Amino acid sequence: MYVDLAQLEQDELCVEHEYAVGELDLEDAEIVLCAPPRVRFRLQRLGMEIRIEGRIETEIEVRCDRCLSAFRLPVRPDFDVFYAPIEVLKPEEEVELTERDLRFGFYQGERIDIDALVREQIRLALPFRLLCREDCRGLCPHCGADLNHEACRCASQEWDARWAALWDLKRRMEGV
Ligand SMILES: [Zn+2]
Ligand SMILES: [Zn+2]
Repeated sequence: MYVDLAQLEQDELCVEHEYAVGELDLEDAEIVLCAPPRVRFRLQRLGMEIRIEGRIETEIEVRCDRCLSAFRLPVRPDFDVFYAPIEVLKPEEEVELTERDLRFGFYQGERIDIDALVREQIRLALPFRLLCREDCRGLCPHCGADLNHEACRCASQEWDARWAALWDLKRRMEGV
């Protein structure tokens, strides 16, 4: 979905859009959309700059960083982004501008790519750590047991191994 700035009749535009299934490609294999994103925004022309503020609502499926199980996460980022025409970007400014915060973008050819905005805002809304729940106990690094659902088998395996060694010793001593 694009907003064509040349077609803007006023300096302000309000849009509400619900994506159809398959309409938005997140371009990220780690994130699956569970609900079609809904985006609402107000676009304003401020001289050369364009300001877009609004909200996205959707639900995604991701994997827990600790136990690797898939879980659903509601994502509802608010955003407020400024766009400048890419033509104003001088080469020496590039470094400075990319270091500015993520609330700044560029548009080219009088069009603003709303899909790219939605995609980026969903990604920015993800928490640093993806956890299926705050106290997820994760997987045992040795036996791989999911400690949320089962006890780790490592301790009992060590125990069994020790008993087996003792039995072997006993049998050898008895000459069986
Ligand atoms: Zn987990
Ligand atoms: Zn274990």
